[in-house]
Amino acid sequence: MTQPPFRVGLGFDIHPLKEGRPCLLGGVTIPSDVGPDGHSDADVLLHAAADALLGAAGLRDIGTIFPNTDPACQGMDSARILRRAAEEASQAGWCVGNLDVVVVAERPRLSAHVPAMQKRVAEILGIDPSRVGIKATTNEGMDAVGQGRALSVHAVCLLFKA
Ligand code: MG
Repeated sequence: MTQPPFRVGLGFDIHPLKEGRPCLLGGVTIPSDVGPDGHSDADVLLHAAADALLGAAGLRDIGTIFPNTDPACQGMDSARILRRAAEEASQAGWCVGNLDVVVVAERPRLSAHVPAMQKRVAEILGIDPSRVGIKATTNEGMDAVGQGRALSVHAVCLLFKA
């Protein structure tokens, strides 16, 4: 059966925000009183991006590759997670076309940091920053994200056959 030369994947992640945690998003440390809490460095953006990429490649999710019960993953740099996802996709013959993400957060304010995040995510993936879209929005005061107690990220990724 003929396989299409491109595939799309969807990723989602959410972490609670905790006082005093570093706010690492898209591989960039953002000045903030609160940061995503988690087992690894809790970079929600890179986790959602990695799952989008793995999903597009038809591979299992990041929890399978890097279980949050594994002590080796404690405090892990999530750039390693995204790079591994890109490597697995590459081994299956896929190249990243583009990645687009939406960060949903009431705090901290992110717009000033978007260009740095684009640059860093592109660097991790080895693509041009113009192929990484990052948008920030709020949850209009609704639910845990809207009340500033959590931060979530939606990501889509297009892969194409080299
Ligand atoms: Mg996560």
